[in-house]
Amino acid sequence: MTSAETAAPHADTPPPHVTLLYGAGGPPAARYVEEILTHAGVFYETRQSGDSDYGLLPVVVVCGGTLGTAWREAVARHVSSGGILLCVGATGGLDSVLGVADVEACSPGWIEVGAGSHPAAAHASAPLHVFGGITVAAGRADELATIHGRAAVTWRRHGDGHAMLIGPDIGSAVAHIQQADTVVGDGEPAPDGTAPLDDGILKAEDGLVLDWARDRQTVHAPRGLFPGAWGGGAAPPHAAGPPDEPHAFPIFREPVADALRELVLRALLSLASAASVPLTMLWYWPRGLPAVGHISHDSDGNDPGLATQLHQVCIDARVRTTWCMLYPGGYPASLYRQVRDDGSEVALHYDALEGTGVRAWGRANFATQARWLRDMTGDDAIISNKNHYTRWEGRLELFDWCVGEGIRVDQSKGPSKTGTIGFPFGSCHLWKPLDTEADAPRFIDAYCLPLMTQDLVITAPAAFAQVLTDAARERHGVAHFLYHPAHIAKEGVAESFHDLVSYGRECGMEWWTSAELAAWEDARRTVHVVDGRLISSVAVADATVLRLLPDGAEASGAATVVDRYGFRFEETVGPLTSA
Ligand SMILES: [Zn+2]
Repeated sequence: MTSAETAAPHADTPPPHVTLLYGAGGPPAARYVEEILTHAGVFYETRQSGDSDYGLLPVVVVCGGTLGTAWREAVARHVSSGGILLCVGATGGLDSVLGVADVEACSPGWIEVGAGSHPAAAHASAPLHVFGGITVAAGRADELATIHGRAAVTWRRHGDGHAMLIGPDIGSAVAHIQQADTVVGDGEPAPDGTAPLDDGILKAEDGLVLDWARDRQTVHAPRGLFPGAWGGGAAPPHAAGPPDEPHAFPIFREPVADALRELVLRALLSLASAASVPLTMLWYWPRGLPAVGHISHDSDGNDPGLATQLHQVCIDARVRTTWCMLYPGGYPASLYRQVRDDGSEVALHYDALEGTGVRAWGRANFATQARWLRDMTGDDAIISNKNHYTRWEGRLELFDWCVGEGIRVDQSKGPSKTGTIGFPFGSCHLWKPLDTEADAPRFIDAYCLPLMTQDLVITAPAAFAQVLTDAARERHGVAHFLYHPAHIAKEGVAESFHDLVSYGRECGMEWWTSAELAAWEDARRTVHVVDGRLISSVAVADATVLRLLPDGAEASGAATVVDRYGFRFEETVGPLTSA
């Protein structure tokens, strides 16, 4: 498999194409690379440094830690005979293969990509925030990006193969940005007054690890009817001035963790392209969709009249949505039935804001409120939850509570302030949490579905519909908006809802419920490779399979050719079954 007897030795190799190899002694969160590859639909085999089977697939990814002598020799032979190596977060002891020297620990900072950048980093419109790993002296390798004035990303042609290093620990950075710090008190407010996190309410943003100055971008948009105040508080500084003139809004416009994920994917694709490996991936969405939209509703106030009004708006817009219900409810049973009959979803809106009795933070209260919703609606399955006011405590415990109640998706991680709109946790993708505080790293079997903004017109300018949809579509994730029934009767809100839904459709996106997102992601994660063929454990309709067209490769003519991550792929859409 690793011989270089022809000019394109890997051209006909079937998937899987990637061996993921863990060194010894790496940081536990470096393992998040596994989740990055899994979610991106890359098929791989995993090896530990203690394994004695040294067989390697064409693309080897070494992830954190150090390899033993036998493994280092096996990987060096692999590269010199035409194979591919990507090291992430550490050299694994392969410094000479990578052509780098003077390895140093990397302190938190930002990866800087130069002008005319390499395809691996061409998507990075701003420096990328990372929190550890290594930097090197590029030595015999080409330097593709820097951090702290030293080489952060390098590339080297070695023998007949190629070797690339991403020095910063991308797995740990993605996990850290998404999962954030443990919430035990209020976070530091933004210095410009746009995000007063010091509100005495423990919420997801209190764990925020991104930087107010360097990880936000200023978006200029007309304020419109947006009143400029959040929850009746003082008007933030950007709210002054005429509503129809552009105002400056500093927001987390770029999903930083997703850009870091893409750095790994683009590095793999660059290497595969150079070595003529037809890397095969299962695209995020069916039918070749570029991204998907999602609208949720939180029933704060539980006013049946306003719910009926919003329900009609949803019907008029022909969109299925997710209704998160706040204890103790108040809608007639017929409304829940109608919502379900429309193909929409009834979900939980866990209340730990009240702070007393059953409405306080705690696993037993979460279970009680979930049981209340199941009993009230007569439905045994609740698939999704969002916490009222984005309440949060601890780090990952809520995800374990979700698993305990059969809830597949939590959508609490999002903004409660104008200045945290966008991607305060760096992602627009469904992601799985990684608990690194256990004895061994442990993935939790539930998804986080990030929220981008609360109500357009009321808590964000209507123009953010396009700004945020574009940002999520650019990273091929989920554009998640929230509309409270409590605001639907206010001037401009229903109109903004219709404009948003139309804009998503114009962008080629579909609007799905949270339950549909979970079902799709669960199904696509059952897809695996048997004898070079993609097989799923459950039926997956309209799966989109991408096959890389390496440098200079011709398309077969039968398949559609699409551009993803700056590379050309043959795209095939069709069912995958276990047959
Ligand atoms: Zn609420």
